[in-house]
Amino acid sequence: MTSKVEFRGLRRVFGKTVALDGLDLTIEPGQFVALLGPSGCGKTTALRCVAGFERPDSGAVLVDGKDITDVPANKRDAGMVFQSYSLFPNLNARDNVAFGLRVRGVPTATRRAKADELLELVGLPGHADRYPHQLSGGQQQRVALARALALEPRVLLLDEPLSALDAKVRVALREEIRRLQLGLGITTIFVTHDQEEALSIADRVAVLRDGRLEQAGPPAEVYDRPATPFVAEFVGTMNHLPGRLAGDGKVTVLGQTLPVDGTAPTGPDVTVLIRPEAIQVTLADTTHPPAVGTGLGEVVTASFRGASVRLRLLMDGHEVLADVPGHEAARLAPGTRVAIRLVERPVLVAARAAPVPDA
Ligand code: ATP
Repeated sequence: MTSKVEFRGLRRVFGKTVALDGLDLTIEPGQFVALLGPSGCGKTTALRCVAGFERPDSGAVLVDGKDITDVPANKRDAGMVFQSYSLFPNLNARDNVAFGLRVRGVPTATRRAKADELLELVGLPGHADRYPHQLSGGQQQRVALARALALEPRVLLLDEPLSALDAKVRVALREEIRRLQLGLGITTIFVTHDQEEALSIADRVAVLRDGRLEQAGPPAEVYDRPATPFVAEFVGTMNHLPGRLAGDGKVTVLGQTLPVDGTAPTGPDVTVLIRPEAIQVTLADTTHPPAVGTGLGEVVTASFRGASVRLRLLMDGHEVLADVPGHEAARLAPGTRVAIRLVERPVLVAARAAPVPDA
């Protein structure tokens, strides 16, 4: 059994801090949604409102169309996993998983069997008798996950469950969480401030800003067609380049004219947002003048990242980041004169006052 979850105009204020400021979001049954946003944007508060640990000042949380605002936490069908492992240190893995079943009066043999089955499901067969201090961080989070699933919740709530783990374990476990979630078909809300994590794990990414929804959509849509400069900036890396509206829904930037995505602010001077991978870099032909629509510049730094190289270029006095395939590293060393061409696809345009990237 899986549920639809709706946030309707959710508002929560702590003293002078507005944690949630009218959050609206619908999560369909079986969907995996990542709540993504900077620290303090209200992600955890929203999750806690579903769990019942937090009560909104106004607005409501609906589960399958029913307002659950006044339903106590222990009467809600939600399983939660926290950032810190939060296992009971004096109970072994099996008893941690079976804890909720014990509280509900499930007979010993049944709950033991269920706990062992869940430990197997999360990839920990044979670990049932170990205590939390005998388990690695990743293993403890697997136990926490099994514990959250033990009561067969209709909604799974994950509050930065991977952030205390090292990079490799983190990626392995997030893939496993996703595999499990797809297998169980359970509606899942996953809080993270890590955009790569959100994009790689979720069916839909909901970007929050100052307690409100900025954009929600499938990962590729949020990345490729950010609704606002804030989303563009938060999800992935962006170049902010000075441009001039050319009329006709187009903008000229670094000598090239591109179509504008969405409505542009009134210009003519604007900031154009361009992804590093949308900038093609070739060696400059110093024997001929540059072709129309290309810019000339120089490589300042090149950071090798395996599959790609992140180049920092200086073009007409502007810093530009460009990602090129890893095998190009040798050709594009610092000091190399290069030509760039912008990939012809719609770009987002902001008023000139938009923030400039950190140096
Ligand atoms: P983070 O990624 O840092 O956990 P978040 O997006 O999950 O951030 P919340 O934890 O929901 O953000 O907090 C939103 C805002 O509300 C923050 O400014 C936070 O300090 C404040 N806040 C949250 N809970 C409380 C509380 N119990 N008392 C006072 N302020 C709170």
